[in-house]
Amino acid sequence: MTAAPQPLGSSGPLGSSGDGWAFCSQGHKHWGIYGAAGLLVRHRTTDGTDLVLLQHRALWSHHGGTWGIPGGARHLGESAGEAARREAAEESELETAPMSEIDCYVDDHGGWSYTTIVVYVDEALPVAIRGGESVEFEWFPAASLGTADGPVLHPGFADTWPHVSTL
Ligand SMILES: [Zn+2]
Repeated sequence: MTAAPQPLGSSGPLGSSGDGWAFCSQGHKHWGIYGAAGLLVRHRTTDGTDLVLLQHRALWSHHGGTWGIPGGARHLGESAGEAARREAAEESELETAPMSEIDCYVDDHGGWSYTTIVVYVDEALPVAIRGGESVEFEWFPAASLGTADGPVLHPGFADTWPHVSTL
């Protein structure tokens, strides 16, 4: 895993908020001055069904009403794993401390990246929301994602899912 490139002239103290827009070298506008990260929480049931925890995004948010993973902008000097856990803890009552990172996927656009941190949990317990960015959290069968019967995915997560579905 490589650290997100820092913008030239960045001089904020360690931990400075990364809230703000950034442009990648492909010309897109992205949220997160120092890149962004999200937490993909998975569980495998005893009968072998793969489940994925998704966040139903608040209607007012960007692509509101779609389903994605909790996440957001990285702070200056913050690792993707730290950022993903912090954001998940701000948006839900997930206990992220005991989670160990299994894998990660970096979508590097050049000058900006989104890192998906993959963790597995022992139980697919109900997850309550925290803050105003979520409507609910729900477990979905991994096999339903990206299908007509599955949840309507946030376009960013829809692009990422094929790369992380087997992690
Ligand atoms: Zn981009």
